Amino acid sequence: MELREPDGRNRHMPVTVYIPTPFRRFAGNQTYVKADGKTVGEVLESLGGQYPSLRQMIYDASDEIPGHINIYVNSQEIHSLQGKLTPVKDGDEMAVIPAIAGGQVLTPEQVNRYSRHIIMPQVGPAGQRKLMETEVLVVGAGGLGGPAALYLALAGIGTIGIIDFDVVDLSNLQRQVLHQTEDVGKPKTESAKETLRAYNPDVNVVIHNTPITSDNAMEIIPQYDMVVNGADNFTTRYLVNDACYFAGKTLVDGSILLFDGQATVFVPGHGCYRCLFPAPPPPGLVPNCAEAGVLGALTGVMGSIQAIEVIKQVLGIGESLVSRLLLFDALAMDFRIVKLRRDPKCPLCGDNPTIKELIDYEGFCGAPFPGQDHDGPDGSVGA
Ligand SMILES: [Zn+2]
Repeated sequence: MELREPDGRNRHMPVTVYIPTPFRRFAGNQTYVKADGKTVGEVLESLGGQYPSLRQMIYDASDEIPGHINIYVNSQEIHSLQGKLTPVKDGDEMAVIPAIAGGQVLTPEQVNRYSRHIIMPQVGPAGQRKLMETEVLVVGAGGLGGPAALYLALAGIGTIGIIDFDVVDLSNLQRQVLHQTEDVGKPKTESAKETLRAYNPDVNVVIHNTPITSDNAMEIIPQYDMVVNGADNFTTRYLVNDACYFAGKTLVDGSILLFDGQATVFVPGHGCYRCLFPAPPPPGLVPNCAEAGVLGALTGVMGSIQAIEVIKQVLGIGESLVSRLLLFDALAMDFRIVKLRRDPKCPLCGDNPTIKELIDYEGFCGAPFPGQDHDGPDGSVGA
């Protein structure tokens, strides 16, 4: 619409162009920009004249509007009108809408927080978004689960589930980095949640303040994309192995004793803990950390390795520990890797499986689940 000014000149009401957020920084951070023209093409030329870097976004090398950009006039796409020749009149509203990949958009604060990851081409903004959409269950908020959960939280893993029934004991503080002196006596899950949220409030921490058992494992594990095993006893270790296999979940396994650590990744169909160790040792033959001790700093190495394996799986980068067992001897300072194979005779993942649902693990291991009957000196589920 053109109105006559009292002095006879035309007063102009140009076309309003809506700029979506991905383009806004090219248009002086404005949501709406005014531009002149009698056709869509003329308005876009006027817009591009005002904001040259925006022009580069809405025209391709041959000066055409690329296929991933749609232009609307009063909510109608111009291909259904007359394309760039579509007439516009003053007061009309246009919109320039690019295709976007979807998913979570990183806030400026997140870009800053995760910048040392994002600048690596192996991660990038897309990889960071993948991490932020991943849900990981950590079994045991102890020596291994602690550093694993900590580095996963720092990396921005979207949801971290923590399952543990125990309370923080003074003897845990020699290695369990999620808990501090003032946490003694508190449930480990609560202490873990406070620590992880203090490090990164972006992370959703879900706590399961219970022992993991045959009764609840198939309710809890399927809620997550992946499981980190930080259990310190064979009963829980076989249960988590079997439940992850039945739920089709990747299991990032770690274990520690004295100065030695082991880590591997089990992906259903590529071997499992039972392929590696078909039967648990007789109760009492292999001591646990509470009975024999463990070097505190060793838990940091092995838990970090578990976090690294989770992140590699999520990003699809590197060579994972699938079908490989990493052995770390801290006294000799020796890392070695041995091959693991799926055992066709494995009772769980073999060709003729005999285990088709969760079994009686207390009977199988000859030991009760920690937390149901406090058998161990500290009864803890987390190494
Ligand atoms: Zn197996």
